[in-house]
Amino acid sequence: MEKKQTIIIGAGLVGSLLSIYLSKRGYPVKIFERRSDMRKTDMVAGRSINLALSDRGIKALEEVGLMDDIRKICIPMHGRYMHNADGTTAYQPYGKEGQYINSVSRGELNCKLMDLAEQHGVEINFNQKCEHIDWNKNDILFEHVATGQRTTNNGQLIFGSDGAYSAARLTHQLQQDRFQYSQYFIDFGYKELNIPAGENGSFLLEKHALHIWPRGNYMMIALPNMDGSFTCTLFFPFDGEVSFAALDTKEKVKTFFEKTFSDALPLMPTLESDFFNNPTSSLVTVKCFPWIREDKFALIGDAAHAMVPFFGQGMNCGFEDCSVLNSLIGKHDENWTKILAEYQQLRKPDGDAICDLALNNFVEMRDKVADPRFLLQKKIEAAFSKKYPDKWIPAYAQVTFSPHIRYSQALVNGQKQETIMQEIMALPGIENRWADEEIEKMILEKIKG
Ligand SMILES: Cc1cc2nc3c(=O)[nH]c(=O)nc-3n(C[C@H](O)[C@H](O)[C@H](O)COP(=O)(O)OP(=O)(O)OC[C@H]3O[C@@H](n4cnc5c(N)ncnc54)[C@H](O)[C@@H]3O)c2cc1C
Repeated sequence: MEKKQTIIIGAGLVGSLLSIYLSKRGYPVKIFERRSDMRKTDMVAGRSINLALSDRGIKALEEVGLMDDIRKICIPMHGRYMHNADGTTAYQPYGKEGQYINSVSRGELNCKLMDLAEQHGVEINFNQKCEHIDWNKNDILFEHVATGQRTTNNGQLIFGSDGAYSAARLTHQLQQDRFQYSQYFIDFGYKELNIPAGENGSFLLEKHALHIWPRGNYMMIALPNMDGSFTCTLFFPFDGEVSFAALDTKEKVKTFFEKTFSDALPLMPTLESDFFNNPTSSLVTVKCFPWIREDKFALIGDAAHAMVPFFGQGMNCGFEDCSVLNSLIGKHDENWTKILAEYQQLRKPDGDAICDLALNNFVEMRDKVADPRFLLQKKIEAAFSKKYPDKWIPAYAQVTFSPHIRYSQALVNGQKQETIMQEIMALPGIENRWADEEIEKMILEKIKG
């Protein structure tokens, strides 16, 4: 059977990976990307330089035989290293022995994926911005970003992997009856800052950890880079007394960091210039439906489901989209009406679920990490889960280390666990008797019920 001419809009992480899956199956694939070729230019500063790659993403990369290569540019992070306001630190392993997430450079990962795509015969066209799709003819209009020259390309199979502000989605939406769309910005933004390497490329903080400075209403995190530096991300309110808007001079920034992130400040020699040179970016959740059009079009990755980054799953989820789609191509023997219908049926609830989980995690990280009752609840859960690992997988581990559990199932499981824990936490004197056998029995009963 002749394979459909395939066009992918966007050569980001997900579009590039998808092209490899499809070309491996013999599809002739062309990608059109708005940016210039990042392999030939300097990386764009200020756009999450490193990302946490975890089991769902790894599974997808393994399927296309890429993980051995990617592992070389990954730094395993085995736990969270908390930097408390009072100067103390605490380390929390992410999961069981051998469970970890990986810090990986967004740019390097994207470049490697594009290299591999080209090795598989994918043609990547740069500086080509998708403007419009004619759904009757399947003609896609692109504009060259430098010359303004417009060209039309025809695709029998078209994927919109052009990110959270997808042009493909917009043109799909405008010509779709009853298109559901929601876009929700949180009132927090993020800014990237830098902790450079020490002498001879040494790491000035623990290398194999994700560092967090939780400060109640806001936080900073830092992930290690291969060159010994750390990329810090400050998640902070846009407006208000303590906010990006309020820190409007170099002196104010320095004083604020002295007071709030005192152990990090000495490691940040370029803080003031980073703060004012790097952009303050917004954080959005996007949900939409339908994701597909007959047998010829699908949204994938952030274009279908953009989420806030507090579960570190956006890319992992997009990679999982590719993996699921690939398995459906096999299952439905290239019948794209069936493939796309089932792709949407499976992935829409999972996309919604991880968007919700990520937003909930933001609230948890922002409001609760310093609350003693919340910490007690987590302690009880952790102790129970350690004793009964098959009966209680913590929500974080379900999402991060359990690709066999769908996001939608992880959400339901997490809600059930939360209900149980609310009942346990309401027991009088729980802080003194949480380790009693009686409490353990109660939890076991409630799990059954
Ligand atoms: C601060 C932050 C931290 C994050 N941390 C993590 C993490 O730790 N782990 C994780 O899994 N995820 C994380 N994410 C999410 C992750 O970055 C995204 O989910 C992922 O990049 C989505 O990939 P994508 O290819 O769908 O979209 P994108 O990466 O946005 O790529 C879209 C591509 O389409 C191109 N494009 C856009 N418009 C057009 C057009 N009109 N025509 C042609 N091309 C176009 C763009 O130039 C881009 O190359 C984080 C996100 C943020 C903001």
